[in-house]
Amino acid sequence: MVVGGGAAGLAAAARLMGTGKKVVLLEGNICGGSSTGKSAGFLTPDSELELSQLVRRFGIQGAKDLWAVPVRGIERMLELIGKGGFDCDLQKQDSLFLGKGKGGIKAVQEEDSSRRGLGYDSQIYMGDELRSAIGSSGYTAAVRYRNTYGVDGLRYAQGLKGMLIDGGVGVYESSRAVALSGHTVKTHMGSVTADQIIFCADKLGPELNRYAWNVYHEQTFLSITEPLSAAEQKSMFPLEPFQCWDSDLVYSYYRMTGSKRLLLGGGSLLTTYARHDSTTSGVVDHVISGFRRAFPQLSSVRFIQFWMGRIDMTRDLLPTVLREPDAPWVHRVLGCVGLPWATFCGDFAARQVLAEAETGDEKYYGYFDVNRKFLVPIWLERVIGKRLAFPLNNAWAKYYQRDVRAGPR
Ligand SMILES: Cc1cc2nc3c(=O)[nH]c(=O)nc-3n(C[C@H](O)[C@H](O)[C@H](O)COP(=O)(O)OP(=O)(O)OC[C@H]3O[C@@H](n4cnc5c(N)ncnc54)[C@H](O)[C@@H]3O)c2cc1C
Repeated sequence: MVVGGGAAGLAAAARLMGTGKKVVLLEGNICGGSSTGKSAGFLTPDSELELSQLVRRFGIQGAKDLWAVPVRGIERMLELIGKGGFDCDLQKQDSLFLGKGKGGIKAVQEEDSSRRGLGYDSQIYMGDELRSAIGSSGYTAAVRYRNTYGVDGLRYAQGLKGMLIDGGVGVYESSRAVALSGHTVKTHMGSVTADQIIFCADKLGPELNRYAWNVYHEQTFLSITEPLSAAEQKSMFPLEPFQCWDSDLVYSYYRMTGSKRLLLGGGSLLTTYARHDSTTSGVVDHVISGFRRAFPQLSSVRFIQFWMGRIDMTRDLLPTVLREPDAPWVHRVLGCVGLPWATFCGDFAARQVLAEAETGDEKYYGYFDVNRKFLVPIWLERVIGKRLAFPLNNAWAKYYQRDVRAGPR
């Protein structure tokens, strides 16, 4: 049984489908009804941690191991889209990581040299060349790389749901798990008993997830424009449409959809780690103002809708994947930041259920171990609260942490 029908849970169910096992997926809302369906659909390995940050933290081999996670996640998503043959607005879009100010030049150079050092493709843009790639004077440098895509997250989730149902998986939407007892998960209407249970549900409380302390959430906002004219698009992306994000800690991100609308996302330091949902347009208005300053030629383009969502994450921005020591039939996939990471981790957990571990798979239990070291230890977090401790730990993980001894156990 899989609990949770986001990118992770759907990937887990897809791996189990057709293996001769009876597979059931319980989803509290609709498949894709939480982060996955609300996402901007960037399929890039670079979700919260850039490659250069992984190299600093884990060394060359560790960075290779970990970069392979979202890369394989993207490959698996493409494979599933191909297999299912459903339309989820799949767009091939190179990534463009944009530096802001002097610090941004450094961040871009570090990313470029890490990519080259590890043998990955990389192209750097500065000066006039930069203006030929992005129609804005708001950036100081950029690094471009290939094999990245965009999807409509909700259509992806719903398409995959259809494929699972056709493949014999019992998919039950509006079926929220409310209790776990041994091998049985109870919902508000009934219960399901299974040999193995993979939890890929977000924002679970301690009654359903004894590792709930491991996870918090960040809020991010998205808005979308009316369709851009060809001239507007060209003025923004003179070369071709990229998927972009910048070097700020709370960064802005944008990409074109297949219907030529611009998706623009971002947040603010105050609301990113807020405990409660912020539902006013204040943050989005601020993100849009920043965008208009960067692209004054697009100031008349209208943003017609906005929404927010919360992404589960851990203190150091790596997912946690485990089997419960005293209930090894219970698998947990927690705090996956990014669709590719979630896809890999759901698929990984399902492979362990099938005992189909690939060579080297075991090392990921080491990287994704629940007992990792953080700057602000748990006892101090209990005093100062998650809202303060998480940004400190996240910033430390991104900019300072070195844990080269982590990894294979
Ligand atoms: C606004 C926004 C923009 C984003 N943009 C991007 C992006 O461009 N690229 C990218 O890679 N990532 C992006 N993300 C992050 C990405 O969406 C998440 O990291 C990813 O979707 C996590 O997938 P998941 O399956 O782990 O979790 P979720 O998608 O959160 O899935 C968990 C599922 O569990 C279900 N559930 C919860 N409780 C229960 C229960 N008790 N019983 C049954 N079911 C339950 C939920 O309804 C949900 O469907 C964005 C997120 C947001 C919010």
